[in-house]
Amino acid sequence: MTLRKKLIAGNWKMNKTPADGVALVSELVAAIGKQTDVDVVVCPPFTALESVGRGIDDANFKLGAQNMHFEASGAFTGEIAAPMLRALFVTHVILGHSERRALFGETDAFINQKVIAALKNQLRPILCVGETLAEREAGDTLKVVQTQVEAGLEGVGKDQAPNLIIAYEPVWAIGTGKVATVDQAQEVHAFIRGLLTKLFGETIAQKVRILYGGSMKPSNAPELLAQKDIDGGLIGGASLEARSFVDLVKAAAEAK
Ligand code: PEP
Repeated sequence: MTLRKKLIAGNWKMNKTPADGVALVSELVAAIGKQTDVDVVVCPPFTALESVGRGIDDANFKLGAQNMHFEASGAFTGEIAAPMLRALFVTHVILGHSERRALFGETDAFINQKVIAALKNQLRPILCVGETLAEREAGDTLKVVQTQVEAGLEGVGKDQAPNLIIAYEPVWAIGTGKVATVDQAQEVHAFIRGLLTKLFGETIAQKVRILYGGSMKPSNAPELLAQKDIDGGLIGGASLEARSFVDLVKAAAEAK
């Protein structure tokens, strides 16, 4: 039996105005705001963090950002710093999402600086890793994931490691409707757990949640969430509608 509490995080990406976001979370709060079986994190765009944060005041939800800069302040036009997120009661931050890697040129070294800065500022990083279709077809999945995990976590101390969350998101499964098979997902999750064991030791590795992301929805979630090393989901498309997100949280609550 695992000691890890399941976690469902919604990555809204570049969707929803503050008003749309408040409307969505008011439905979520009404349906699952008081449940405590699953950790729930909502990650709106920066512009909706404050209003969504107020909207979840009375709920057992956490607030997450989708990105941040590693510096605390300065001449970085268009960027947002960890202390700014903390001032809005943000507790989690998605880092190294494949869209940031592919569309905005983020490297492992750059992402690593953000991971370190997030931990220093008491934000829990949700570090995203995953292979492209070409990399999977070339048989490089584990090698790619290993590099992203090891480089992304360089310099993270054992004392900070329990606050980490890793999301395995095969790039070919994101927003495509193609979901990894349970065996494909569990294989990579177990591999990541092994990497965490080497880096931080068995006790800590057993505490770190490893989420699956990539077209997770209520129909495929129960099977994925039943896997030994799948501790929750990072949800894109299905987090934008109350009904599907609520059903995902319920699926996580029922997963053994
Ligand atoms: C994501 O982008 O993190 C994601 C998992 O998206 P989707 O659920 O839409 O595949």
